[in-house]
Amino acid sequence: MFLKSGGALALSPHVAAFMLCPMRFFRMIAWFGLGMIAAWTRGEEEKALLYSPVTELPEWRLLESGQGTITRAQFEDRWRRIFDPAGALAKYIRLSDAGVELFRDPAQTQPLLHLLFVPGEGRDSEPWTILSSSADRPLMGKVICLDPGHIGGDWADVEERTFRIGRDRPVVEGELNLKTCRLLAQRLQDAGAQVVWTHEGFEPTTPLRPADLYPEAIRYMLQDVKSRRFPSYTVNGLIRWNAELLFYRTAEIQARARRVNEELRPDFTLCLHYNAAPWGRSGRASLVSVQRLVLFSHGSYTEDELAYDDQKFHLFQKLLENSTPEELEIGAAIGREFREKWGFAAENCAGSGYAHATGASPYLWYRNLIANRLFHGPVIFVEGPYMNDRTTYAWIQAGEFEGSRLIGGKMRENIFREYADRVADGVIGLFRERQKRSPAFTNYSP
Ligand SMILES: [Zn+2]
Repeated sequence: MFLKSGGALALSPHVAAFMLCPMRFFRMIAWFGLGMIAAWTRGEEEKALLYSPVTELPEWRLLESGQGTITRAQFEDRWRRIFDPAGALAKYIRLSDAGVELFRDPAQTQPLLHLLFVPGEGRDSEPWTILSSSADRPLMGKVICLDPGHIGGDWADVEERTFRIGRDRPVVEGELNLKTCRLLAQRLQDAGAQVVWTHEGFEPTTPLRPADLYPEAIRYMLQDVKSRRFPSYTVNGLIRWNAELLFYRTAEIQARARRVNEELRPDFTLCLHYNAAPWGRSGRASLVSVQRLVLFSHGSYTEDELAYDDQKFHLFQKLLENSTPEELEIGAAIGREFREKWGFAAENCAGSGYAHATGASPYLWYRNLIANRLFHGPVIFVEGPYMNDRTTYAWIQAGEFEGSRLIGGKMRENIFREYADRVADGVIGLFRERQKRSPAFTNYSP
């Protein structure tokens, strides 16, 4: 499961349920109280609303190195094709042949950045890539970062990334991700890569804990009380729930991003997850039939997101970084493996409002997620099989068995092995292809 990017919360609405019982009525009154405080403090808070919660303030000077590096045509192409197909940024920018001015507000009174274009046509430079000269080890010289999704362990319940059916073994997504990544790491290392990790156990990367984030949680709840949908907890419960959300979603991924950007500096990052279909009406764990897969490349900012300064900053940072071509090639290569070896259908995110097609592969969609927004360099976000799909569930329950077994009518190796191999084969196959395409490469192997 992936973490949605910014403002909205992911749980289903229980707003109607508020109306049904007297206790809930009192909670609702408490909510109106919060709403009034929100309205009252809004004047004061106007500027604070322009940043996503628990976010580091954008350092605009970091974009200065992008001055005079792209043409107007390149800016417009990347902006509309990758990052903002709906054109929501248009009201915040003033565009000319000389450059683009970015403003905080639609009235364009508060400037944030003035980026100058390089004059003329310009050409997108080829992604600069060192190719290994060893046919057996096509990833030699590459630093690949693995980001197993979620924390798992003691935090799995807090993260709401675990379920159990009857007396079966509990399914904990963080643990499945880590198990798969360990096998993937071995394959990548065997092919010559240096593998680095955002985290490799069940401990959070951030030193913060939910209790540290109560003030932020209250601020977050007050930001936009009317349009937010919360589960029907007491106010105290809601504050705790929001503090937990800010902990495992925002603070944790920010801490991982600092590690990636300041220490690890990989050539690219693979974020790996297992997916989950929404539970039925009861909210209880149940199995469904859904064999689909999806991968994400960074892009597709929504209008709501672009109201925030930090989101505007990251759009410009990513647009100038130009990691998209690499994300598309790697993502498409992994997608091909999934299609050929598993035959799962591609997820269709058209009309979702938060993702649009890349055109590079039916599996690969542009989407703005915290991890692929904050991590520097190319990030390929892989959503694996649905944990609560009937066949996949049985496959997971079968554990890390040796050899092959009949799963869902097909002979399969264990799911961690197969998922890791699909991703590894995609990546290694692509770099082997690149060696063949490169005129400088000579195969000295016998
Ligand atoms: Zn996940």
